[in-house]
Amino acid sequence: MLELGGLTKSFGQTHILKAVDLKVMRGEMVFIIGPSGSGKSTLLRCCNRLEEPTDGKIWVGGVDICAPSTNLNKLRQDIGMVFQSFNLYAHMTAKQNVMLALRKVQKKSKAEAEAIALKFLTQVGLAERADFYPSALSGGQQQRVAIARTLALGPKVVLFDEPTSALDPELVGGVLQVMRQLREEGMTMVVVSHEMRFARDAADRVIFMADGVIVEQGPPEQVFGAPQHPRTREFLSSLN
Ligand code: ATP
Ligand code: MG
Repeated sequence: MLELGGLTKSFGQTHILKAVDLKVMRGEMVFIIGPSGSGKSTLLRCCNRLEEPTDGKIWVGGVDICAPSTNLNKLRQDIGMVFQSFNLYAHMTAKQNVMLALRKVQKKSKAEAEAIALKFLTQVGLAERADFYPSALSGGQQQRVAIARTLALGPKVVLFDEPTSALDPELVGGVLQVMRQLREEGMTMVVVSHEMRFARDAADRVIFMADGVIVEQGPPEQVFGAPQHPRTREFLSSLN
């Protein structure tokens, strides 16, 4: 579904991603873990071209998304992204936030956009909060609105960059529950997260990245339970 071939990203002389190869299968939930600065966010951002790769290829459903003919608007609907900061518009209700791109980008009618928004707000457990403004929602609820907004556009893949890092501990569970449910529905997801317990339990595959390369990858029980590489062991032991 999503494939990286020799993905390289440099900022000036600083090489952040060093020829990364990665293949994510349809319906797979892949976690990326690794130290700060190892290039995890940069990798995700290249996948919907928030960053332009320096070299290498990215295919989504077999289509080269770095081709000059790529429609970036369409690409960003196909490859949804959920960030640590939810970036909701404060002057719009939850429903209006979800409707915005449906109206502006997908040119849906108001009634259709509204129906889609309510469907996805219901999916993330917020049907009753559809008319609330972000300031009246908890951080966890705001993040679920942001997830609904991404899902409403019909993505083929959703990339999550530390979706729960900004949340108080008691609000994390609700967001993870939504992600778990998405996995059960067969969504293809790449998740950068420090929620190791969740990764262990929900991931199909865990990738350990350091210094712009994939050091090690495998099923969670292998990467967490019997890491092969000293750097992986060092990173995992630094967490406790
Ligand atoms: P964290 O766990 O802290 O989020 P990360 O693995 O997501 O880290 P990235 O955000 O991908 O790391 O950053 C990797 C490196 O690239 C860092 O050293 C960062 O300073 C550098 N970097 C990222 N964006 C830019 C930029 N626009 N210009 C220059 N350097 C950048
Ligand atoms: Mg990051």
